Amino acid sequence: MRPETWYAASQPQPARPGVAGVIEVETAIVGGGLAGLTTALALARAGQKVAVIEAQQVGFGASGRNGGIVSPAFACGSDAIEARVGRDAARALHRLTIEGVERVRATIRELNITGAQPVDGLLNLRRHDRAQDLKDWVQDWARTYEYPMTYLDRAAIRERLASDRYLHGVADPQAFHIHPLAYLLGIASEIENLGGLVLENSPVLSHELGPVKRLRCARGEVQARRVVFAMGGYTTRLVPALKRAILPIATYMIQTAASPDLAQAIRTTEAVLDDRRNSDYYRLVDGGRRLLWGGRISTRDASARGVAKSLRAAMHEVFPQLDGIRIERAWSGWMGYARHLMPQIGRLGPEEWHITAFGGHGLNTTAVAGKILAEAILGETDRIALFSPWGLSWAGGPFGLIAAQMTYWGLQLQDRWRERGL
Ligand SMILES: Cc1cc2nc3c(=O)[nH]c(=O)nc-3n(C[C@H](O)[C@H](O)[C@H](O)COP(=O)(O)OP(=O)(O)OC[C@H]3O[C@@H](n4cnc5c(N)ncnc54)[C@H](O)[C@@H]3O)c2cc1C
Repeated sequence: MRPETWYAASQPQPARPGVAGVIEVETAIVGGGLAGLTTALALARAGQKVAVIEAQQVGFGASGRNGGIVSPAFACGSDAIEARVGRDAARALHRLTIEGVERVRATIRELNITGAQPVDGLLNLRRHDRAQDLKDWVQDWARTYEYPMTYLDRAAIRERLASDRYLHGVADPQAFHIHPLAYLLGIASEIENLGGLVLENSPVLSHELGPVKRLRCARGEVQARRVVFAMGGYTTRLVPALKRAILPIATYMIQTAASPDLAQAIRTTEAVLDDRRNSDYYRLVDGGRRLLWGGRISTRDASARGVAKSLRAAMHEVFPQLDGIRIERAWSGWMGYARHLMPQIGRLGPEEWHITAFGGHGLNTTAVAGKILAEAILGETDRIALFSPWGLSWAGGPFGLIAAQMTYWGLQLQDRWRERGL
């Protein structure tokens, strides 16, 4: 079943066949999100016969219902990455995240995905009065990565947003936002154009991982020489080693009704993100007529009504003038996080691979990770080794979820403390 999102409502999605009888391919990929599909696309482009097996419809998971913001970085902060692997490897990893941004843009152009045309620009804004580190950040990225950004003061922000909440910020003109479901469906169609199979409504229920991999569904099985598991925050006990390494964390979005007031409050087509640990992000869509607003995380999947209330309150705190605007839709999705917050890309056994744990930063990172995993499978490069310091460590099970929720609440309090009096 398709989730009730603005993306699903604005993007027709063709029905695809399911797994029936015995299907033989070279590589079977379990999970039809962006991690699975970008890997499948890279393999299909190299001439491999692939089958993507999706439990629901492709894009059913986080990939088809996310914020649509494509920007560099991992879910894990750069200081933590550097502390783990040193400066050179951290920089190499960061360059990959920029490559991921460029890959999304290139894929949309090459496949002519008209419904996912990039809208340039991201404002990364701050709600408390410390600015020097933002200026240092802009300088450092220009010097280290030749990545141009601009520091914004309060007046420059006010020109774009009719809100008193923001004191400082950074404009990133190379980041952009897209319709993520349209992007994903464009990739799925291209896999089919290249002779690959995209199979839906076929949860893989069990498997046998000998020299021939057998992925069993209710009405048939896929047999392959190689398997890739890409089940994100929807990972089941199908692969216990992956299940124990993933923390599923829910996050939320709302979509407003059309209103001319929106364009007066938000006078930019750029996406907006604040730098709180409890970050709010939003952007105008539908030619500026509607607003998508995202934020909040939880280890339990809260009801859509509760979500709408909480996100609406967040929106009014920034833009009190939008008080009367109706919320048309609210939805949630599961992100998959590793305890260390880095993606988990690697090998489980002979010809058994995994690509997962992209957290809340999956659009750019799946684009580059899928390519890197395909390069490893095809024996073309060893770029995958950059991710080996972050293995499939135990995420803590129920204790991990409790710890994640407590950490989040603690960070919310810290955000409030930093912004006190504003
Ligand atoms: C509300 C929200 C907002 C977000 N905003 C952004 C953003 O603005 N920018 C950004 O970069 N990232 C964002 N993210 C994160 C990003 O969406 C994810 O990191 C990324 O989509 C993960 O892709 P994935 O393929 O790993 O997982 P998913 O897209 O979740 O795909 C996993 C798929 O596996 C399938 N599956 C599971 N088990 C089986 C099985 N047994 N058999 C067959 N199929 C199975 C599921 O049905 C699912 O479709 C957001 C996430 C959410 C939820």
